[in-house]
Amino acid sequence: MKSDPLRYVKPAVREAAAYTLAAREAPVKINQNENPYDLPEALKRRVLEQALARPWSRYPPFDPKDLLEKLATFSGWRPDGVLAGNGSNELIEALLLITVGTGVRVVIPEPTFTLYALLTKVLGGETVRVRLTEDLRYDVEAIRTARREAKASVTIVCSPNNPTGSSLDLRDVRRLCEEGEGLVVIDEAYHEFAEESAVPLLAEHSNLVVLRTFSKAMGMAGLRVGYLLAAPALVREIDKGRLPYNLNFFSQMAAMAALEAWDELKERVLELERLRDGLYETLSLMPGVRAHPSRANFILIELLDADPKAVFEAVYRRGVLVRDVTSYPMLSRCLRVTVGSREENAAFLRALGTALVECGPSVVTRRA
Ligand code: PMP
Repeated sequence: MKSDPLRYVKPAVREAAAYTLAAREAPVKINQNENPYDLPEALKRRVLEQALARPWSRYPPFDPKDLLEKLATFSGWRPDGVLAGNGSNELIEALLLITVGTGVRVVIPEPTFTLYALLTKVLGGETVRVRLTEDLRYDVEAIRTARREAKASVTIVCSPNNPTGSSLDLRDVRRLCEEGEGLVVIDEAYHEFAEESAVPLLAEHSNLVVLRTFSKAMGMAGLRVGYLLAAPALVREIDKGRLPYNLNFFSQMAAMAALEAWDELKERVLELERLRDGLYETLSLMPGVRAHPSRANFILIELLDADPKAVFEAVYRRGVLVRDVTSYPMLSRCLRVTVGSREENAAFLRALGTALVECGPSVVTRRA
């Protein structure tokens, strides 16, 4: 009799739910917080030319020095305090790999980006969850108490938060760094849309780690580039959790080209901020919908009367794919919508309007 191969998988892994996303396609795809604007074609061509001129048979540089220096200049931090990764996901993994083991406590607000809790569990750590407030803001006092009582090694806050869009005030980031035990990780995947960053605090706080990505504002989700900023001594340790040659040369070239073109790309970020604010205003006026204020490139909407899953499907039938976040704690009535181009947002609003009439009898009553 063959033994069950799954018995060799760690129990914590078997218990964990996988990080998955149903593979659906739609003409208007606003479910992954991607940038609706692709990189400019001229920039893509420049990167292709560079890639053609380089032997593909050779490994990328062991330490991507040129990229690290450019990232340092771009973010206003020192080059020996920067790590580049294959998406910020990889750096989240490296960071947790070198800090979390059996019984180590990690404070994570919820609801938030689910990868943090998953990796903590896989590594044998213990997640200390701190609920957001009723209106989905960070409960700073509860985070402070949880850290202190749990003697947490790591506290992770996404600012702006995915999927709620709320931010942690910089004064609170400073306070967390100053008073508590352990590392403070601020995930700034969406910081460009918030025009706020914890990076200026790095110089004073050696327990602060900032994570960033090229997947959102930079419009490079397909090439998988992220970076981490922290004190050099800490970066040297986190680097031990990163696989050698993690970032391929093509993505390195593209990341450098994007940084050089930031002035141009920044215009599009500003445009997305304007579109976000316009979308928020329109959604706020819709009967049966509560939109949560967001400083990121997405908006969380709560459906006050209609069944959110039915609205998700009704909107999808009209060619618009949003994110169903009903399985997240506190969000059983919510959908998350990425800010798209002007046309995409209009298509979404049209689809939502008809979906609400179709799915929400009480909305129809209200209008009557
Ligand atoms: N952090 C947060 C808060 C995110 O929302 C995401 C992407 N959804 C990531 C990190 C990972 O981004 P990437 O690996 O593409 O850099």
